[in-house]
Amino acid sequence: MKDNTTTIAQLKQKASNFVHDRDWRQFHGAKNLSMAISVEASELMELFIWARDQKEAGLILKEKEQDVKDELADIIFAALMFADEFDIDLTQAIEDKIIHNEKKYPIEKAKGVNKKYTDL
Ligand SMILES: [Mg+2]
Repeated sequence: MKDNTTTIAQLKQKASNFVHDRDWRQFHGAKNLSMAISVEASELMELFIWARDQKEAGLILKEKEQDVKDELADIIFAALMFADEFDIDLTQAIEDKIIHNEKKYPIEKAKGVNKKYTDL
């Protein structure tokens, strides 16, 4: 499976099969899955916790490439399970969010600027 040949639906199905085979769906409430997303994101951040700047973070990224991939996969897996459990169409949700963010961050105000929309 590769990004350019795999759909989100296929990924959801693969993750769902993994969970179903282990009878873990019983543990997949909104609280548990949202916390799992946060915990896995924290595990990704932990890899870079002592980097002093972006350059050093880049070096860590190379040194710990597999760990980074594993944690990113954990985040996406938990997000896929959340979406699957609560019938959220991720493609629609992302598209809706991009449209929303395009309004919050118009190009003429936000291009090259790293401020929150309330400060533009
Ligand atoms: Mg993890």
